[in-house]
Order: sequence, then structure tokens, then C-alpha cells
Amino acid sequence: MANSKYEHVRKYELDDELLPGCYIVIRVDGKGFTKFSTLHNFEKPNDINALLLMDEAAKAVLVDYPDIRIAFGQSDEYSFVLHKNTAIYGRRSSKLVSLITSCFTSNYVRFWPQVMGEDRALKCSPTFDGRAVLYPSEELVKDYLSWRQVDTHINNQYNTCFWALVQQGNKTPAQAQEELRGSDAEFKNELLYSQFGINYNTLPEQFKKGSVVVMQRRKVVVKMTESGVPVEREKTEPTVLHCDIIRTEAGAFWAQNPDLLK
Ligand code: ATP
Ligand code: ATP
Ligand code: MG
Ligand code: MG
Ligand code: MG
Ligand code: MG
Ligand code: MG
Repeated sequence: MANSKYEHVRKYELDDELLPGCYIVIRVDGKGFTKFSTLHNFEKPNDINALLLMDEAAKAVLVDYPDIRIAFGQSDEYSFVLHKNTAIYGRRSSKLVSLITSCFTSNYVRFWPQVMGEDRALKCSPTFDGRAVLYPSEELVKDYLSWRQVDTHINNQYNTCFWALVQQGNKTPAQAQEELRGSDAEFKNELLYSQFGINYNTLPEQFKKGSVVVMQRRKVVVKMTESGVPVEREKTEPTVLHCDIIRTEAGAFWAQNPDLLK
């Protein structure tokens, strides 16, 4: 394309190439989802369909960006870990953050009717913020993911108590908050069990552990023959797991997936 006399304005754009050799974590988080979840009648503390919708949007991101090795989601957030040597978009921060955030957002909207149900229409446009964080070692990426999973557990335990006190204990939100102020994990487990008969350990793993998404090779049915026999083929597909990603000993997630971040 011919240069115009206005080409000089280009020089004002900043170079934002992310440091080489570092893992790139892009985290997206819903804007104002406390309000958004109320407006759309999310079940409290955990609306399963809303969590599944987040997982669908994340799976679509992994399909579009093969350099994402693992993603982790909870509540209204998702983290995507790109391989340390990825070269996509010249590792430009603004390109990566904006593309992954808008890919996630557009898929969240696209899958809404099918996951949330036709009777739960979108009443406003959900938006997500995005940021990039660099981690220079595999250990630090694992620590990052552990940090998010511990956060999932802490939030879920608090929210489960809070909503039990409000929904079943007839407490006002302010009273529930006051009762839980400064309490430790043991107190919360005991409160759930003695007052509401809830054994925290038996709640769904999806709520306690969040969602891990990785690409896995699996057999999938690609079509049916005329006589109705399923035709299977091996395909690499994004797979959602609700497993522990903190432990590293034999049999644990990282021991089973030693090359995921290599
Ligand atoms: P910000 O814009 O700063 O992120 P926010 O209101 O989104 O503000 P968060 O800390 O991100 O604040 O909290 C997310 C909110 O969305 C929480 O209130 C959480 O309970 C709610 N939420 C997200 N997913 C679900 C879900 N699946 N079921 C019920 N509530 C949910
Ligand atoms: P990149 O991902 O690098 O931006 P791109 O294919 O989007 O790649 P652009 O330079 O952004 O490249 O060009 C936008 C393309 O979309 C052009 O090919 C343009 O012709 C096409 N396009 C955009 N809007 C319209 C429109 N309203 N009508 C027809 N074509 C359009
Ligand atoms: Mg926030
Ligand atoms: Mg949020
Ligand atoms: Mg959040
Ligand atoms: Mg353009
Ligand atoms: Mg373009």
C-alpha cells in the first residue's frame, strides 16, 4: 500500500512485545458480575449452567489458540496459559489480551441461549476485562494455578456458608457477613454441618476445584453409517476436568501430565 503523508503517526504506537521465554498467562474476569448474576437470576452460591457456559467459552478459546496449554476457570474468571515459546502475534501484549478476551466474550454470548436455556434471555451485554502476566518458570506457573484453585476453594466455602445462612438460616446478608467475619475453615465446615447438615467435602468437585481445560486426544463419533453404526475417529479436543492441580506426587495431575508445560 502506498505511504501517505500521515504515516508518521504510526511511530506513536508502543512496542509491547512480551519478554521472550516466559509463560504468558491471560486472565479474563467478568465486569460487575455480582450485579450481572443477580440480574440473570444465577442460582446462589453456584449456578451450574453459568459455570458450564464459562467452560464452553473457554473451550472455544483453546480451539482457536493451540499454543494455550492449560486453562483454569472459576466463578466469572478464566486464566489461559500460553506456552513460553509461543510466537503468535509477535507476542504483542495488546494483541493477545484483546483477541483472547474478545474471543472469550463473543463465545460466552454465542453459547448463552443453548447453555442457559431459551427462557433466560440476556438482558444486557456481558463484558470481560483481560490482563497478561508473565511467569519465567514452570514452577511459577504451577504456583499461579494453585493460587487460583485455592482461591476457588476459599470463595466457595465462604459463599456456601453465606448463602446457607441467608437462604436457610433466615439471616440478612449483613448478619450472615457478620457471623462469618474472620472465621477459619474449620469454623465454616462445622457451621455448615451442625446448622444445615451440609458436609462440605461431599459438595460437587466442580464447585470446590473449579474447571481445568486441556487438549486431550479422544475417540469421538464423527458420523453414523446408513445402517446406524457410529463411525469413530481420534480427535484432539478441549476437555474440562474438575481435578486437583495443586498436588504433584505420583498419580496427581502434574505427574500424569509431565509434558504439558514443556
Ligand atoms: P469486577 O468487575 O471488579 O470483577 P464483580 O462483581 O464481577 O466485579 P468478582 O470478584 O469478579 O466481582 O465476583 C464475581 C461475582 O459473580 C461474584 O459475586 C459471584 O458470586 C458471581 N458469580 C459468578 N459466577 C457465578 C455462578 N456460576 N453462580 C453464582 N454466582 C456467580
Ligand atoms: P488482521 O487479523 O491482521 O487484522 P484482517 O484480514 O482482518 O487481518 P485487515 O487489514 O484488518 O486484515 O483488513 C480487514 C479486511 O476485512 C479487509 O480485507 C476488508 O476488505 C474486509 N472488510 C472489512 N470491513 C468490510 C466491509 N464492510 N465490507 C467489505 N469488506 C470488509
Ligand atoms: Mg475483580
Ligand atoms: Mg468480575
Ligand atoms: Mg471474578
Ligand atoms: Mg483492519
Ligand atoms: Mg483486521
